[in-house]
Amino acid sequence: MSRPVTIVTGGSRGIGAATCVRLAADGHDLALGYVSNEAAAREVAAMVREAGGRCVTVRADTSQEADVERLFDTAAAELGPVSGLVNNAGVTGPLGRLANARTDDLRRVLDVNVLGYLLCCRRAARDMAALGGGAIVNISSAAATLGAPGDYVHYAASKAATDALTIGLSKELGQDRIRVNAVAPGIIDTDMHATMGDPDRPARAAAGIPLGRPGEASEIAAAVAWLLSPDASYTTGTVLRVSGGR
Ligand code: NAP
Repeated sequence: MSRPVTIVTGGSRGIGAATCVRLAADGHDLALGYVSNEAAAREVAAMVREAGGRCVTVRADTSQEADVERLFDTAAAELGPVSGLVNNAGVTGPLGRLANARTDDLRRVLDVNVLGYLLCCRRAARDMAALGGGAIVNISSAAATLGAPGDYVHYAASKAATDALTIGLSKELGQDRIRVNAVAPGIIDTDMHATMGDPDRPARAAAGIPLGRPGEASEIAAAVAWLLSPDASYTTGTVLRVSGGR
């Protein structure tokens, strides 16, 4: 049987990188999207190949329609028809109350986290319908239901949009045999916290998490891998919370 071809946006670091490596081990070939860190993308691609997968890396800002189209075109040209998408590339902007947020930061979060997910889902819907089926996993966040007051309510709002997108699109695409699900991570130990100016955030949050620790990127990758697998063949329109109980 041929290996499924899956696109992972933001595959160069964190949850996306762990997902690429896990999916390669599970038998996928990968198109790995990244926005700027080419060295990290190459490192992950090497790990994918080591795990037995083919891998193409594509610099693509998911908030840009032309970049998204090029990401999908390259994946299909280099690896074959795309049957999987992990919509993962996401940003938060600086931490703080909405009253102090800059418009440019709000716009960037919505452009990447909402418009970017929509552009990728739209192209996946077209390609997978033509192919006769497929699976999409959108990376949401526990923030979508917690609201993240004082930290980033705009980001939480963008993730609530991800949940609505997942539910609506699953109903639209069921007839095309395309499953659409989301994974909502809690606090996961990745670069994201340092990028938003608070590298110690995962360690500090541990006390408020029922399982007593932040999550590992590989624990999110495992949930994504299940949702993409035939074991999840009757699962669509669900938001799977993987948050240590938070
Ligand atoms: P991360 O470590 O900061 O990595 C972000 C990844 O996204 C990188 O590969 C980055 O590429 C890529 N990226 C950023 N902006 C992009 C854009 N405009 N176009 C394409 N790629 C872009 O983040 P993470 O913690 O793994 O988060 C991954 C996803 O999980 C996000 O959707 C995030 O909201 C969600 N999430 C994370 C947590 C957490 O605690 N970490 C919790 C809940 C949800 P470069 O390497 O090129 O910069």
